[in-house]
Amino acid sequence: MQHVKKQWLTRFALGLVGLDIVIFSVYGLLQLLSTSDDMRSRWGITPAILTIVGIHAAYVLIVFPFLRKKFEWLATIISVTMYAILFAAIIDTSGNTNLYYRFGYAVLVFLMGMIGPFAPIATIALTWLVMVFAYVGVVTPTNASVLLNLAINSVVTIGGLAGWLFFRKYYVAPRDARSAALSRLLNQTQHETNAILESITDGVMIITTGGTVRVLNESAAAMFALNRTDALKQDYRELFPAQTGATTLDTTITSCLESGETIQNVCLLKNHDGREFYVDIVASPIYQDTHEESIEKTQVVGTVAVLRDVDQKQRQEQSQKDFVATASHEMRTPVAAINGFIELALSPAVRQDDTKLIAYLDKAHQTIDHLSDLLNHLLLVSQSEENALQIASETVDVVAVTQLVLGEFSSMAKQKHIALSFEQEQTDDQKPLITADNQQLKQILRNLVSNALKYTPDNGRVSVQVKQDNQRVLISVADTGQGIAPDQISELFQKFHRVDNSKTREVGGSGLGLYITKLLVDAMQGTIAVDSTVGQGSTFTVSFPAAHDQAAPVA
Ligand code: ADP
Repeated sequence: MQHVKKQWLTRFALGLVGLDIVIFSVYGLLQLLSTSDDMRSRWGITPAILTIVGIHAAYVLIVFPFLRKKFEWLATIISVTMYAILFAAIIDTSGNTNLYYRFGYAVLVFLMGMIGPFAPIATIALTWLVMVFAYVGVVTPTNASVLLNLAINSVVTIGGLAGWLFFRKYYVAPRDARSAALSRLLNQTQHETNAILESITDGVMIITTGGTVRVLNESAAAMFALNRTDALKQDYRELFPAQTGATTLDTTITSCLESGETIQNVCLLKNHDGREFYVDIVASPIYQDTHEESIEKTQVVGTVAVLRDVDQKQRQEQSQKDFVATASHEMRTPVAAINGFIELALSPAVRQDDTKLIAYLDKAHQTIDHLSDLLNHLLLVSQSEENALQIASETVDVVAVTQLVLGEFSSMAKQKHIALSFEQEQTDDQKPLITADNQQLKQILRNLVSNALKYTPDNGRVSVQVKQDNQRVLISVADTGQGIAPDQISELFQKFHRVDNSKTREVGGSGLGLYITKLLVDAMQGTIAVDSTVGQGSTFTVSFPAAHDQAAPVA
């Protein structure tokens, strides 16, 4: 049914309650002022009228608020019909001549236009019918003259017509069943889309051709450390600080909008927390059918950008590429050196000279040892990166293992005239034992002792000490070498890291020894610490939880 806005109808009904109060007040006033009977009959407010007024007020205040929730039109028409009856009755009880009532009635019919044409038409028809019936004697004859009745009924008719013409502009569009069903379907689809958007871990943004962010899911907001409400309706370019990565993001979105094709890119972005990370962006166009100058067109109206945090994967790939590049570079040097020494050894001049021949072959042999160490290190690194590092768990006699490793380095120490010593600090009769991988512990000690010897000039000292301290076994390798600057200490255990100074450059190395040492120590629940003074020497200490099972240790 046609009607104006709900608020207007409510105000109309409440306005009529206001009129109820006025009628009650006029009645009370007439009683108080003890006016003449003539005066009272001219206003025609009888107990029957007051009953209708009371019923109307009670209806609007009690029933109307509930009924209007579902049937706005019906709720209002009941109130208006009661008033039409009230007016008809009061006009009759006041003898048809009270012009206030009759014009008030015309105003009521005018206002009825708010609830469509039906109510004013019915009221106007009844008004004329009652007049005709009064003249033919079906109802009580009217006191008013024919002319007055004709004039007033015409005013009522014009009022009704004017009301309908005036209010129909404000009728709210009726919602038919189909559009209501469509709207429900739309709501449901919207809820489902939201649920999907919020449940996916990829960031999703919908951006208009003008660059405004229309949709931004929770994952995207979290990825960029943005407040979602603030980010919505902003230009996406303002959400990302100007930087290299933001340019790639911008290019991806702009190219998608311009070409109407799906564009994919990986870029390094910085979010609002300052975190730099790689994002894989896939921007797909959104098309819409438009109708311009009777031509059907399909045009791009925006883009859906799906953003995936690929930081870990990207960095892994990058580190693998770096590893392969550095490893091949590191291997090239010893291979070239071995080749050179053998070529020299094979040269006719050297072949005749046994001393030179042995010296070159010895150098080739040493370089092969270095290459073998390097290959061993590379193998361990790649095993650890593939989580394939094998760590056995056996009871290891630390003293025996340390002495074994020191034995391997005695000739190297002799060559450099370095005093290589071993010391054990014993607190009780028990052997220092740990639960570890015997072979990998040897690898740790080889790396530390070989570094100590490498980075200590000739005639220096390298002392290795094993001691049991409470629940831990500590092995320290101290040297009187070049030492390490404090700012370098934190970098020492990084892959391929070598302290960049002239002394280090003289000594061969790949920068993998300490990285692997730390890797193995961690894998065996141990710790590693460095204490160093430039020019005086360094002490590397590894510590492991002591094992109490004294049975059958391995060495
Ligand atoms: P490499 O010895 O093959 O270069 P490492 O990972 O074993 O690689 O060591 C990394 C760097 O730490 C070395 O290049 C060296 O500069 C420094 N370093 C390691 N041990 C010592 C030491 N005992 N004294 C001085 N510097 C050391």
